Amino acid sequence: MVEYPFEISPMFEGERIRKEGMFVELGGPKSLGLELVRAKPMDEIEDDKVTIVGPDLKDMEEGKTYPWAMIFNIGGELVETDLESVVERRVHDFINYCQGIMHLNQRYDVWMRVSKDTAKKMDSFEPFGKAVMMLFKTELPFIEKMQVTFYTKEEEVKKEMETAKEIFKARDARTKDLHDEDVEVFYGCTLCQSFAPTNVCVVSPDRVSLCGAINWFDGRAAAKVDPEGPQFEIAKGDLLDANTGEYTGVNEIAKKLSSNEFDKIKLHSFFQSPHTSCGCFEVVGFFIPEVDGIGWVNREYQGMAPNGIGFSTMAGQTGGGKQIVGFLGIGVNYFYSPKFIQADGGWNRVVWLPSMLKEKIAETIPAEIIDKIATEKDAEDIQSLKAFLQAKNHPVVTTWAAAEEEEEEEEEEEEEEEVAVTSAPGMMMPSAGFQMPAMASMPMAMPMMSAGKTGGIKITFKKAKISIERMVISEKK
Ligand code: SF4
Repeated sequence: MVEYPFEISPMFEGERIRKEGMFVELGGPKSLGLELVRAKPMDEIEDDKVTIVGPDLKDMEEGKTYPWAMIFNIGGELVETDLESVVERRVHDFINYCQGIMHLNQRYDVWMRVSKDTAKKMDSFEPFGKAVMMLFKTELPFIEKMQVTFYTKEEEVKKEMETAKEIFKARDARTKDLHDEDVEVFYGCTLCQSFAPTNVCVVSPDRVSLCGAINWFDGRAAAKVDPEGPQFEIAKGDLLDANTGEYTGVNEIAKKLSSNEFDKIKLHSFFQSPHTSCGCFEVVGFFIPEVDGIGWVNREYQGMAPNGIGFSTMAGQTGGGKQIVGFLGIGVNYFYSPKFIQADGGWNRVVWLPSMLKEKIAETIPAEIIDKIATEKDAEDIQSLKAFLQAKNHPVVTTWAAAEEEEEEEEEEEEEEEVAVTSAPGMMMPSAGFQMPAMASMPMAMPMMSAGKTGGIKITFKKAKISIERMVISEKK
């Protein structure tokens, strides 16, 4: 039996390597990181071979970041090109099974770290490569032969990156002429349930997976080669609503896989029963109520969105396999879908994108809206975003007038109520230490509390749905 210098087990999957414990960083936000799987004829693969192009682990300096690319070639009687993405998606799992080696993200934004402890136990990436290939061949027996090349030299990584981006583009383009209505089955994936137990991933021709790695063809190839595996067929069932993308078959699987937490998933809706978000989405969408529009921020963007929140904080709020109304995780390729959030206005509802993302997907943004979508160069906060959208006459601006009118009417009604409440005899304000009883959900019509203009408290809720278990109001010292 082959011995490896580190332990291998799924229990290391959640292991995080912080800066202090890190020997080297590979790829990530400060450099280039790539992973790619290619299907090759059997006679072109030297089984178990590891090639290292550039400095090996022993030649690396502690604490430094290096560019990184790993290209795996796979072969076998059942191996076909459609399986490349599915196999590639497992790179994340198998690398994370290796003690002291952390892997994040996928495709062209891979980020890895090797811990100091593990670097003490091996001076080359070779045993690491062999361990990962052993895991692949054990878990996915249709892979009969496999070899890997690790690149750590910048020019080589750049070259591989360019080629790989073309390959990813070609893979993503395969579903361009195929739509949800053209097929009888969609595909599901449960891989992310290991950390997001209620996540239900549904992949349809018009909706790529959140991680961006699995499209409808990939799901089909995976389900065919490994019917008991994590990717499986979902019978669409009856179409309930074409606009939101609601199907009886998808609802049934949502209920089953989420252990009854959700009973609906509408594939092309942002607000109503949206798709669950696991955590490995490439982009997160966020509703901006002040402008009635939706912004999107990608994983690579390091700055803040106009709501003052960055990707990682938003990802933390959105992930975990929940349906979070107001946030939505997606794969980049969903922007190319003709059904992109069509139930909520599609592109006409998009108000903000980081410039790097806008440039990347420019070809799919309708010509009439592209200049009306702000980036961080146009708007850094809500005020500047509002001014930009108004100046560009973005479609969301037309909804503001109606909303303002409604708000004014509500304010007038509230003022009338305020007069009635404050003049009511025997009206008592809550005393210090008052505890509001637990309530499941505060109704929108909750009466406003007021103590007049000379002090005390005034609480006004508008269009609010607030869940509170306990509220304590205490005296200001
Ligand atoms: S995001 Fe979805 S498709 Fe991608 S690995 Fe996770 S469960 Fe599978």
